[in-house]
Amino acid sequence: VAVLTIRVLGDPVLRQDTIPVSGMTPELRRLVDDLFDTMHAAKGIGLAAPQVGRRERIAIAEVEGQRVVLVNPEILSAAGKSKREEGCLSIPDVFADVQRPATVRVQAYDADFKPFEIESGDLLGTCLQHEIDHLHGKLFLDHLSLLKRRRALSEWDEVKHEFPDFRRELTAADLDAHPSREDESL
Ligand SMILES: [Zn+2]
Repeated sequence: VAVLTIRVLGDPVLRQDTIPVSGMTPELRRLVDDLFDTMHAAKGIGLAAPQVGRRERIAIAEVEGQRVVLVNPEILSAAGKSKREEGCLSIPDVFADVQRPATVRVQAYDADFKPFEIESGDLLGTCLQHEIDHLHGKLFLDHLSLLKRRRALSEWDEVKHEFPDFRRELTAADLDAHPSREDESL
């Protein structure tokens, strides 16, 4: 088990675009495994490479037992509108309602670098959009109105001192901890 350090709001890596992957290597497969371990330790349902300080265009999601590995994902189409409360493992303790398309069709490569398409709504649909945003330097805060964004940032101001150098340290022991409200952070 390799639980990685999560980078939090303020770390420039969260605002950088990622670099498409040209193929999976043993090192990148290990990164995917580490992303799952880290996400589980943080009690989240999604995690993207920049959140652990990496630049590869790779993200993962796990909603209701369904695991999705997204390598070089692209949104092919989006439909409808839905509003759902979101949190982010890189912005702990901050939650806000985010409006997004209700369903998306995504094309990506899996952990074996085989292409696939997935159409998702509900929580998984939100999660995929949130993770794909991460791969382009975008955070859920960017979808909020100015007022809600200010409120979210003032909540963040209260807790950010807990994460010196923009680092959120987790340990393997966190894998056994009880889930919290962060259960739905992405
Ligand atoms: Zn996030």
